[in-house]
Amino acid sequence: MDLNKDINQFDIPLAKRTYLNNPNSILLKKLLIFSPFLFLIFSIAALRLIKNIELKPISNLKSQVDGSHDHRILGHLPYNEIPKDKLVLIEPNIEVHIDMRDSLLKMREEARNDGIYLVFLSGYRSINLQNDIFYSLKSIRNQEAAERARVSAPPGYSEHSTGFAIDIGDATQREKDFETEFENTDAFRWLKKNAAKFHFKLSFNKNNKYIDYEPWHWRYEGSIEALKVFETSNNDFKSN
Ligand SMILES: [Zn+2]
Repeated sequence: MDLNKDINQFDIPLAKRTYLNNPNSILLKKLLIFSPFLFLIFSIAALRLIKNIELKPISNLKSQVDGSHDHRILGHLPYNEIPKDKLVLIEPNIEVHIDMRDSLLKMREEARNDGIYLVFLSGYRSINLQNDIFYSLKSIRNQEAAERARVSAPPGYSEHSTGFAIDIGDATQREKDFETEFENTDAFRWLKKNAAKFHFKLSFNKNNKYIDYEPWHWRYEGSIEALKVFETSNNDFKSN
């Protein structure tokens, strides 16, 4: 049997080398020529991507360290100053937000009924006044700003500028005004037990990681506006 004859009878066409004229092959040639440049472009893109991925956690860490992720300064959150028409005078030199006046006065009255005498030491403070307190005391005591902020918030960062904060003392133990020792007074014990009924809450308790314990400093959270003002602070407390 003749093998060649057998193959020829199928009449197989010869392969034509036509790929050079094929538009796909032209593209391939171009790709081959430009491949070093493409490689370079892809490398740069990849490097940039890696850099971004690496940088992100570093910048997050940085903002956690200095606390700037929620705009804190020296541990204090920023607060806007209350519009003047929402301020009311409750006694000489003590102004508060109108939302909290009734509740605050009722609280003092109820305390009196229990034989406890609350004194209001400081209510609303303008950012200007806070500025004077912060910087004058700073220079008098020659304290660093960070140290100073543990006692009194920097201007623009005090809850007192909102009108929703009140510093309270015990009328029978005035030497404990603005002192941690205030926690050992009958007034403080009464407040701890009863203030929540009047929607007051201690702003800087012993668990606060930013600011020193201030047993005399209470804030009002009994209105929608007040809750909005202290939302960031409360969210932060929950996540602690
Ligand atoms: Zn205060």
